[in-house]
Parts: sequence; structure tokens; C-alpha cells
Amino acid sequence: MILLYKEEYFEKNKEELINKIFELQSKLDEADETLNAIRSGEIDAIVTNDSVGSHVYTLESADYLYRVLVQEMSEGIVTLTLEGVIFYTNTKFASMVQIPMETLTGKKFNDFVVDEDITKFEATFKRGSNGKSKAEINLKSVKGTIIPVLISIKTLNDLKGVYAVITDISEHKHYEELKIIQKELKNTLLELERSNAELEKFAYVASHDLQEPLRMVSSFTQLLEKNYKGKLDSDADEFIHYAVDGAKRMHELINDLLSYSRVTSHGKIFGPVNLDDVLEQVLINLKVQIEENDAVIVSDPLPTVSADYSQMVQLFQNLIGNAIKYRGDEKPIINITVDKRDGELILVVSDNGIGIESKHQERIFEIFQRLQDRDKYQGTGIGLSICKKIVERHNGSIWVESVPGNGSDFYCTFPIRFVPDL
Ligand code: ADP
Repeated sequence: MILLYKEEYFEKNKEELINKIFELQSKLDEADETLNAIRSGEIDAIVTNDSVGSHVYTLESADYLYRVLVQEMSEGIVTLTLEGVIFYTNTKFASMVQIPMETLTGKKFNDFVVDEDITKFEATFKRGSNGKSKAEINLKSVKGTIIPVLISIKTLNDLKGVYAVITDISEHKHYEELKIIQKELKNTLLELERSNAELEKFAYVASHDLQEPLRMVSSFTQLLEKNYKGKLDSDADEFIHYAVDGAKRMHELINDLLSYSRVTSHGKIFGPVNLDDVLEQVLINLKVQIEENDAVIVSDPLPTVSADYSQMVQLFQNLIGNAIKYRGDEKPIINITVDKRDGELILVVSDNGIGIESKHQERIFEIFQRLQDRDKYQGTGIGLSICKKIVERHNGSIWVESVPGNGSDFYCTFPIRFVPDL
């Protein structure tokens, strides 16, 4: 009985053992499959369940995605030992310091910081290794390029190191600098406008107020000349003559200065101005001068512009008047042409006069600048500076092209929006 019992028992146990072996075999196959999947990279993490709950076990290859992410970032990433030695970088940082990424590991980060910023970097590093910190410093590449960066350092705690995120702020810096320059320019412009207005006011007030005492000097010296000429000695006659002449000249200068300052202070609102009408008026004003010099004036049909009529008359009169005054031996022939180029109206007054040397072609537009002797050609040197001021008030520019002995071409431009019917 006992034997039978034993046999039955073993029979049952054998069956259980075979089942167990099958169960173990399938678990082994499953484990083998998992291992193969891990080897081929198909699995990043394993999740297990037990009585406590789920556990996630990540595998080393699972940080692959993070590595890609870090490599592709537009910021430089560096991990450093507590001694400041690089043990990991991404390609961005390598490209900043212009060195192959593989050769960076083992180098001291300090080697890439400009000398002046080493102390600042070390202080930031120290703070970062105990928590986090950031600073703006300049890095230097191996080729000597300086890169302004924002470096943020944070501790890696138990890993006994730090990581740093490095942002290239060159463009930001450039933008900031541009903003500062722009602000400075704006201030300078405002200051310039203010001092210009002040100067103009001063020129106007001074020339206006000087007129009265000057009128007295002029009239009394003229009286002196009238009553005493030939009654004193010849020296006295000469002195009186100089005094009268000086007063007359001063009167002319002050008048011109006043007209110059009036271009802006007394300028009128722009309206439609037909330049043919302007020319007609100028030919009347210059009638005597034209006839005396037998001058010929030929003009293109001129357009209507939006301008200050009396200033246009003044402009044409100064240019044509000069073209006659600075004539050569030939009789003066003056051509007025008009053209349209690059959104501008170009007016040219050409003459066949004495011409101007190129070294003087800019300075003649400055106030009181003359090239000729007063004995030979009358004038105060203000006409062209008034022309310049008028043209600029109309948002244009003026210049001369000339060959000495071969005449001059005076160019004036006006924005095309001032020309409705060209
Ligand atoms: P002004 O005629 O009273 O001297 P402007 O300002 O009109 O003053 O001219 C400045 C200088 O430019 C003149 O002294 C002269 O030397 C020169 N200039 C002006 N227009 C001409 C011209 N058409 N041809 C030659 N020289 C000229």
C-alpha cells in the first residue's frame, strides 16, 4: 500500500516538474527575446510590476534621444568636473571655440575664456557648483575670435561636476550697441537742430539790431565826406573815404546775413510755383545786367513745382546773376535744362564763364566764401550759401561741376513729389 502510494505520488510530481520545466523554458525564451531587443536598441526601458507597484528601469541606450537633442541645440552645452575640466560638450560649443568636438574633452574651460573675464568666470563657476549662477563673459576661439556669451552654470550634485549652457549673444550685443548709437545720434541731431535754431535766431537778431547803429555810422561818415572833403588835408580825405567805404560794405554784409537767416525764419508755406513764371520775373529783375553784358539765356520749358515762390526767384536770380557776373571774354550764354532721374527733378544752370577749380567747388557754397578779388568782381560771398539753404529747405541738394576756363554747371535737385506736371 505504501509503495503504491509512493508511486502515485512520484507520478504526480513528475507531471508537475515537467510543467514547471516548460514554464521555465518559456520564461527563458522571453528573457532571451528581451535581451535581443535590448541589444538591437528596440527597448529603452523596462517596466516591472510587483506588489509595491510599477518600476521603470531605463537602459543606457535610452539617453540616445537626449544626446541628439543636446547635440542639435543652438546653445553650447558643456559638463565640467569640479576642477573646471571639460568632460562632455556638444557640437555648438565646439563650433563656437572653433575646435573639433573630440579634442575638447580633458581641456580646461578657462582656456577658452578671455584673460580679462577669467576672475568673473571663476566666481560664477564657484557659485554654480553650489547651486546655480549666470554671467556675461567673452570667450575666445582657438583662432582668436571673441564671442560674447551668456553662461548659465548649474551643479550636477552627486555627480561632482557642473553643466553649463552657453548662449552666443553677439547679435543681441550688436543690436544693443546699434540701439545705443541710434539713441546717441538722435540726441546729437536734436542738439544740432536746437543749436542751429539758436544760431539762426542769433544771426537774425544781430544783423537786424546792427542795422540801426550802422545806419547812423553810414550817414554821419557820408555827411563828413560831403561837408569836409577837400577842406582838410589829403590824409583826412583818404581816411574819410575808407570810413564811408567800410560802412557801406558792412551794410551790404549785414543785409546779406539778414537775407540768409530769413530763408528759414521768414520762409513761406509751399504752393504750386510755375518755374517759367519764376524765370520771367528773374529776367525782368536782371534786365540791366543782361543788357549790359549782352547775355543770352536759353531755357527748356520748366515744370510747376511745389515751392516758396520768392525763394525760387532768389535761387534763379543768384545762379543766373553769377553766370553773367563770372563771365569770360565771350558773351555770356546761359542754358537752363531740366531732367528727371531716380525720383528727382534735376535743374541745371550752365554758363560759358571763367569756371571754378575743383578744389574750391565745395567751399563756394559756404557763407562769405569768395574766390575773386572785390575790385574785379563785386559781391559778399553769400549768394550761393543762400541758394544752398533754399534748395535744402525744399529737400533737395546743390553742387557744381566745372572746368576752369570752360564754364560751370550748377545742379539743383528736388524730390519728384514736388513736380506734379513734369
Ligand atoms: P559772390 O558772388 O557774392 O562772391 P556767391 O556765394 O554767389 O558770392 O559765390 C561765391 C563764389 O563762387 C564767387 O565769389 C565766385 O568765385 C564763385 N562763383 C559763383 N558762381 C560762379 C560762376 N557761375 N562761375 C564762376 N565762379 C562762380
